[in-house]
Amino acid sequence: MSAIPKPALSCEFFPPRTEAGVEKLLVTQQTLEDTFQPAYYSVTFGAGGTTRDSTLEIVKLLAEKNINVAPHISCIGSSKQQIKELLELYQSLDVTRLVTLRGDIPETGESTKELSHANELVSFIREMTGDHFTIEVAAYPEYHPESNTPQSDFEYFKNKITAGANGAITQYFYNIDAYSRFMDNCQRDGIDIPVTPGIMPITNFTSLTRFSDICGAEIPRWIRKQLEAYADDKESLQAFGLDVVSNLCRQLLEQGAPGLHFYTLNQADTTIAIRNNLSL
Ligand code: FAD
Repeated sequence: MSAIPKPALSCEFFPPRTEAGVEKLLVTQQTLEDTFQPAYYSVTFGAGGTTRDSTLEIVKLLAEKNINVAPHISCIGSSKQQIKELLELYQSLDVTRLVTLRGDIPETGESTKELSHANELVSFIREMTGDHFTIEVAAYPEYHPESNTPQSDFEYFKNKITAGANGAITQYFYNIDAYSRFMDNCQRDGIDIPVTPGIMPITNFTSLTRFSDICGAEIPRWIRKQLEAYADDKESLQAFGLDVVSNLCRQLLEQGAPGLHFYTLNQADTTIAIRNNLSL
């Protein structure tokens, strides 16, 4: 098997709800760091800013340890003034990268919408802070669930690049052709920013199905059927999941993906196991 050129690997965390969760997250981060020094760690932001304080707490904890941390920032549920204050805070913490999103619409349906879409948030960040931040935005090789047409979804993606995004991270997918097609479209339209595949490990069938239904990621039939068949046989399910996702990552890197962004679910083991399977 040929060695793959060194890609940029990054890891995503969500802010834990408890002190014990925070302690565990710090151990996870240290384990990942000791194993392969990810390029950066991103920290998600809850729907409508619901985890604002806990996101900030984790970002501060990591930034104070000089760890390269990239907070997610969303515009739904936040006023321009609140976003401005957050940007100032992140600048004071020497944060230099943001994952910039519209954000998921809260279940209540209520949200502040001074900025309605991610491209407007990117423009606002550029207006407020110039080139201080490296800005990553979201990309959807299988299309965003609310999108009207594939064409309009891609046009809206391009708006985020025009507004000043430096790179994109994809929603997770298991159909590699969707990513290849997305990259072909980027090339066709002269978009040359890095588009890093988001990688979701497969460890739990129920939660994967639930989340995939919400975010519009397809679980191909051959994967779903096999996961269903394993049912409570956790060990076989996880071994199969590891194999599937490692193969996906290997193929992505072989076809030129600039890196991989791991949705770690705050666990180190699976991400490390996938990474170890890649002969990097
Ligand atoms: P946008 O780019 O604004 O697109 C949203 C929808 O609106 C799309 O259907 C698009 O086609 C459409 N659209 C865009 N512009 C226009 C326009 N001008 N007119 C009409 N329609 C338009 N969510 C969170 O809440 N917190 C997180 O931390 C978080 N992290 C994420 C990280 C990654 C890598 C990814 C891929 C997603 C993440 N999400 C997160 C989910 C994301 O917030 C949702 O998918 C959200 O619904 C869309 O965000 P967006 O930035 O892609 O929005």
